[in-house]
Amino acid sequence: MARTYIADVTVFDGARVRRRQGVLVDGDRIAWTGAHARAPREVRGARPVDGSGRTLTPGLIDCHVHLNFDGGPDFAGEAAQMGLALASIKATANARKHLAAGVTTVRDLGGLGTCELAGAIERGVVPGPRLVAAGRALTVTGGHGHNVGFAREVDGADAVRRAVREEIKAGAKAIKVVATGGVLTPGIGATFTAFTPEEIGAAVDEAHSWGRGVAAHAIGSEGVTGSVRAGVDSVEHCVQLTKATATAMAERGTFRGPTLSAAFGMIEHPAEVPDYALEKISSVIEDAERSQALSLRVGVRHVCSTDAGTPFNPHGGAALELARLVGWGMRPLDAMVAATSNGAELLRVPDIGVVRAGAVADLVLYDANPVDDIDALTSPRTVWQGGSVVAGRAPR
Ligand SMILES: [Zn+2]
Repeated sequence: MARTYIADVTVFDGARVRRRQGVLVDGDRIAWTGAHARAPREVRGARPVDGSGRTLTPGLIDCHVHLNFDGGPDFAGEAAQMGLALASIKATANARKHLAAGVTTVRDLGGLGTCELAGAIERGVVPGPRLVAAGRALTVTGGHGHNVGFAREVDGADAVRRAVREEIKAGAKAIKVVATGGVLTPGIGATFTAFTPEEIGAAVDEAHSWGRGVAAHAIGSEGVTGSVRAGVDSVEHCVQLTKATATAMAERGTFRGPTLSAAFGMIEHPAEVPDYALEKISSVIEDAERSQALSLRVGVRHVCSTDAGTPFNPHGGAALELARLVGWGMRPLDAMVAATSNGAELLRVPDIGVVRAGAVADLVLYDANPVDDIDALTSPRTVWQGGSVVAGRAPR
């Protein structure tokens, strides 16, 4: 594979910004990075890319998507028509939309056929971001998501443990537990507490023993607190957050995935989404904003979680999610950390989410610096995955 040298570029390396850098890509890895003025002799003969005035970042990581869903107004209606074949076709089509948006890794938190798609992408059968699939989500009987096919109903600690083993056997690289009710399931309150502490504890214990991280869907205060106490790795939505639980998250390093794009997608389209969904999201949106401010104040670590596939929340929307996080008070630098190195740590994928020698060459080049202007993320110039250009313009 050819070598590429990106010269005299501003680099966001997953933690901080450095100017006048050089990055040498050899095969699928970063071979060298440092001050452009001190570039080693090996850069001669590499294909040159002019980085001056531009910014290079790690490929973005979206820690919460549903590839089976297109982001249409009626989530439950879309689910009702979905068999395995259609689910797989949609997932394949939606996956590549992330690449075009500079997103080179995603975690699917509830899907059909997604573990198989992850393998197909890894083998190069179809293009797509690196895919960490949770397989089917775990929910209580009659709980949030029971109607959408990608969640399985399971009750009691032993049954939860068995379900975790079955999803891992089927290829899951993460586990998703639905700890509370949800907005998009009719007939169930959004803040309702679903799993017992014993059930969530069993899921976490079993998943961790297999080296898998656990994501909890949690909206209500009791479910959020119970999930954090049980030791989940990320709390998705995390809407009703108490000071004590926010502090516990900061101390334990529990990640928070706010999924603002899911909330805004519904709030901004009141006439098009089902009434039950609009009512539920409207009843908790102020809690969401308050919890965002609280979590930033006490130092909770964040990831980029779009919940793409929910109403008016199409795939490839990580840039918009990050702009929304900034709109709700997050510093752009912290939003970039959330979408890169924090995501890699949460997903337990080594050597991504950073720009450093030896890391995987998942990289995005922008014409402006997203740490100065987060909106720069909406127009990536060139996207590399494993050292190959997978979207955007050919580099010059
Ligand atoms: Zn979700």
